[in-house]
Amino acid sequence: MIQTNLLDRSPADALQALGTFFAERGEPAYRARQVLRRLWHTPAASFADITELPAALRVALGERFAMPRLALLARQRSSDGTEKFLFGLPDGQAIETVAIPDDDRVTLCISSQAGCALQCAFCATGRMGFQRNLATWEIAAQVREMRLIDDPLRVTNVVFMGMGEPLMNWRAVDVALTILNASDALGIGARHITVSTVGVLPGIVALAKRHEQFRLALSIHAPSDALRRELMPINTKYPLADVIAAARAFDRRVTFEYVMLGGVNDTAAHALELARLAKSCRAFVNLIPLHEGGAPEFRATSPRDIARFARAVRGAGVEVAIRKSRGTDIAAACGQLRVERLGRRPPRAADQHGDVQVA
Ligand code: SAH
Repeated sequence: MIQTNLLDRSPADALQALGTFFAERGEPAYRARQVLRRLWHTPAASFADITELPAALRVALGERFAMPRLALLARQRSSDGTEKFLFGLPDGQAIETVAIPDDDRVTLCISSQAGCALQCAFCATGRMGFQRNLATWEIAAQVREMRLIDDPLRVTNVVFMGMGEPLMNWRAVDVALTILNASDALGIGARHITVSTVGVLPGIVALAKRHEQFRLALSIHAPSDALRRELMPINTKYPLADVIAAARAFDRRVTFEYVMLGGVNDTAAHALELARLAKSCRAFVNLIPLHEGGAPEFRATSPRDIARFARAVRGAGVEVAIRKSRGTDIAAACGQLRVERLGRRPPRAADQHGDVQVA
């Protein structure tokens, strides 16, 4: 018999499957909640580890259900505390997850696809092409694994800013969001979970329909269609005006992400145009220093010029922040670990690596 993967279901569905299983065995109903707790909240590495259950029940559970792990292929720690994980999936695909500690927060940057189809000009993940969508459990398990590894991490914030476009994998992301947020699962507050997208309109509408306060970040990167099309081919399908309109219709505050590309999108005129767009939908602007490892043909805007750009945006009446560079010595961004591991391109010198994606 094929085992039911309990991690690939919402907590409510998993609870129902467990309830049926225990009822069939004449076991008390509370057993189902006991096991549910060991899926996500206080995860068990295997059914055998759920020692609060009698041994025979643990064996029976393992025959009926699965609770798979991600394979930890590599774990690297930056001098600034940022940690990067490479996880292997059952079919041999590999994905990246990055943990960014900051004071009392730990932000986990998770992947939603293996590879990516969007081909943004400056992004390392785009270069490896699209492999496949991740399953719900493969998305949520990136957080689960942080509770299971040696020296576990208590994740307080999650950003969908690893590999892939989350809103092109909405079916899996939709349930994963429930698992991340539900108090009987991972229990991370919706305001601490950010979905980052190039602006996939149907996905934004679907996210807006969720009643939880999940946050939306939009990868803008250029204030005009002509430039944005060059940097992000998806702009042909979802042009800037439509993305801005979607942001306006979104009932919660959105963030614009804007990666600073030297000599490309970083002039004073760009700053004013960007501010105008942000104002039109009351967005907050996050300026991202380019991580050059992912983009050999681009150069980063200098820190001084980023600060100047930020002042221009702020001067136009828009809230703006400059994202901190993190994990520079471990290439902690955008598919770089996987690219290095799989040997698509030669590893670059550590000092050429830039920042990590932090909300
Ligand atoms: N596909 C989604 C989420 C993954 S990318 C999206 O595009 O929003 C997360 C963020 O990292 C995006 O804003 C993306 O544009 C940015 N990014 C990609 N490559 C980068 C690089 N080399 N340096 C800095 N930021 C980069």
